[in-house]
Amino acid sequence: MHQKTIRKPISCAGIGLHSGKKVHLSLRPAPEDTGILFCVRDENGSRFLKPAPDSVHSTRLATTLARGRDAIATVEHILAAIRGMGIDNVLIEVQGGELPIMDGSAAPFVYLLRLAGTQVQNRARRVMALKKPIEFVREGKWIKAEPFKGFAVDYSIEFNHPMIGRQEFFIELTPDLFARRLAKARTFGFLQEVEMLRANGLALGGSLENAVVLDEFGVVNEDGLRFKDEFVRHKVLDFVGDMAMYEAPLWGRFEVHASGHALNNEFLRYITANADEYLEEVVLGEPRAAAREKACRPMPGAAPALA
Ligand SMILES: [Zn+2]
Repeated sequence: MHQKTIRKPISCAGIGLHSGKKVHLSLRPAPEDTGILFCVRDENGSRFLKPAPDSVHSTRLATTLARGRDAIATVEHILAAIRGMGIDNVLIEVQGGELPIMDGSAAPFVYLLRLAGTQVQNRARRVMALKKPIEFVREGKWIKAEPFKGFAVDYSIEFNHPMIGRQEFFIELTPDLFARRLAKARTFGFLQEVEMLRANGLALGGSLENAVVLDEFGVVNEDGLRFKDEFVRHKVLDFVGDMAMYEAPLWGRFEVHASGHALNNEFLRYITANADEYLEEVVLGEPRAAAREKACRPMPGAAPALA
């Protein structure tokens, strides 16, 4: 019911998917009503960058946020981890222009958030609830959403590949379910695509350490999959991260088919541009101080408290 931040700062380093270079990440506690805020750090100092549907600049390879000359790439998995673990306010400092890709999943970020701990804050939590159904259909892909008290996703994918085929996954998001059922699912790609990206100087940090790679017959990674339906689980993880571009947690039930970063962003831009029609703010409970005061107030007709 109340906003949450992390209890203490925490840092890590890893490889950037785009550059293949070492990049640094720090997570810091943030005051109430900050939301999720990125901070770009480089030789020119620090600048803030707020995730927003229209600050998504590119969805090729991974989601990149940009404003002016500042850009931060590969933001979707950390956003998914923060939203998935129910953190409202956090500062994400990035050095090196992109988030570390880690193992291609959100599990290392969940681990970091758990090490940092959670701090409950005083102000009530605010969410944006979908107030009427919407069907967003584009060339055989869709996001159909309806009002729901929480965040639920019913996702399906269909790939003409022996390891994937049709996969479906449903989740009503809670921090515990996010950590157990979604966080570990890794991003995936096809060998031909990976070779083409590398030939074009892209995904220089991409390897079997941070993606499930498929050839025409199966999985190239020696250790295989973490879940039989790891592919659709990762799509749900990406969806959670992409919806976290909105300033407040979204409430709705989403039926999603074959979507990706681009369509997710197009959907979010649409409902944001038409917020009066589709969204309403819901404040969950009241500030902690007010709740405490009410609990201490004598019941009407009760004997006056002794001084
Ligand atoms: Zn992803």
